[in-house]
Amino acid sequence: MTNDKQINELKPCPFCGSIDTYRGECEEGDVIGCGHCNATGPVMEEIDVTVPVTLYSWQSRPIEDTLRAQIAALTARAERAEGERDEAIKNTDIARTIVFQIRDVLQSIDPIIFADTIKNIG
Ligand SMILES: [Zn+2]
Repeated sequence: MTNDKQINELKPCPFCGSIDTYRGECEEGDVIGCGHCNATGPVMEEIDVTVPVTLYSWQSRPIEDTLRAQIAALTARAERAEGERDEAIKNTDIARTIVFQIRDVLQSIDPIIFADTIKNIG
């Protein structure tokens, strides 16, 4: 979905990444270009004044947009995985603490049986 803000704010230059972009006119029609590397977008006659073709062409970057969406999805997935990992580490620490507490209780109840049990389970 393209809104007015997205269509009216020029994207950075696809070649050098500069935000020094401009809209202008030449003999053939409207043009959008980069003030840094002098790249220019397609020069086209404007057919639809509600969505200028030249502007739409400059702003349309389906591969880049798809890759950005994939990066955002993968970043979110990585952040969720990190959260799950941290939770698993925390739960492992809690379980380990409980095991040690149980061992201490068993050892205090009967050190001989405790020693045999530890020997048998390794
Ligand atoms: Zn450029």
